[in-house]
Amino acid sequence: MKPMARLPLEIPRSGIREVMDLALAAEKQGPVIHLEVGQPDFLTPAHIVEATCRAVREGHTRYISTAGIGPLREAVARSHARRTGVATSADQILVTTGAMMSLATSFLALLEPGDEVLLPDPGWPNYATSVTLARGVPVPYTLRSPLFQPDLGELQSLVTPRTKILLVCSPSNPTGQITDPAMTEALVAFARKNDLWVVSDEIYSEITFEHKASSVSIFDTDERCLVISGVSKTYAMTGYRIGFTRGRADYITVASKLQEPFVSCGTAFSQWAAVAALEGPQDCVEEMRLAYLRRRDIALEVLRARGLYRYTPGGAFYVMVDITDAGMDSRDFAVALLKEKRVAVAPGSTFGRLADQAVRLSVASRDEDVREGVTRICDFIEERRASKSG
Ligand code: PLP
Repeated sequence: MKPMARLPLEIPRSGIREVMDLALAAEKQGPVIHLEVGQPDFLTPAHIVEATCRAVREGHTRYISTAGIGPLREAVARSHARRTGVATSADQILVTTGAMMSLATSFLALLEPGDEVLLPDPGWPNYATSVTLARGVPVPYTLRSPLFQPDLGELQSLVTPRTKILLVCSPSNPTGQITDPAMTEALVAFARKNDLWVVSDEIYSEITFEHKASSVSIFDTDERCLVISGVSKTYAMTGYRIGFTRGRADYITVASKLQEPFVSCGTAFSQWAAVAALEGPQDCVEEMRLAYLRRRDIALEVLRARGLYRYTPGGAFYVMVDITDAGMDSRDFAVALLKEKRVAVAPGSTFGRLADQAVRLSVASRDEDVREGVTRICDFIEERRASKSG
């Protein structure tokens, strides 16, 4: 039989999903503390669930327009304008089946085979996979600990005639750091100077702590920026599969067409639920934000007490923990930690070349799980350090 295509066989699996599968298998032997997956532990707020049921009862269970239902495109346009102050119309909005699909369609729409995409390292692993599947070439740029800000000099040195896209993500997965507004402006200017598109993943923009996150659209004078967002994280709606792209109207038409051969269209009742999320009461967003802040602080308090504090993430629900003292690479660390301490974390190596001496914790879990999980991680690092020196 003729073999399967080469590319799908060669692309690596996300290390986050790998540990999650191991953790689910380990659960057969007893409870595991899950700090590996970036998923809010909150239930979807009741008024959104109610809107979902109402939409199903009213018959919103059929095919819809590929670009998304009109009321949702309008609600997203309003929500973007509220957040950023940048006027936005519904024809600048594409509704996708999750922010992941917004990202995938952006790479498919913009890249010729061999075109290069500047990607943050550390960064979410799905970016590189998705670029590769679109026949593009991922080119990592450095976010150096502890501030994890891009270096414009390094970015410039990476630009070649094939560079087509600069991808940015703030607040960041996996670091939780927010790009400074002046740096955001400088990144858009850098893209303009080098004639690059900017794909800006702003999915965590509503989950910020001491400072708000800026948006590239504020500095986008010539419509080269695509803003990716969605309801998964902000409203605890990961299973609804709703994402958004904000971009030039002619880009939106092409990206909408690209979504068709993958999913035909989105899910009608999920989209009505997203309208309820964006236009309904927002207290749930504030309650969840405060819970993530409290949990971040619990994690930092334990790390500080054990000499493992390195930085304070400004948003999202992630903390990178330095595991250098354990003397192991991050994948071996994650597997051994799960086996010995029954805590699941994401290995740093899955986020790029630079983070193999770190693991990512998601603090979107219960307060007591964050405290106990981080304590066990610190115990594990200390035990490994002691066994090395002894
Ligand atoms: N972008 C980042 C940085 C993420 O962490 C995630 C999910 O983990 C996504 C995009 C995808 O979100 P969605 O569930 O809407 O596809």
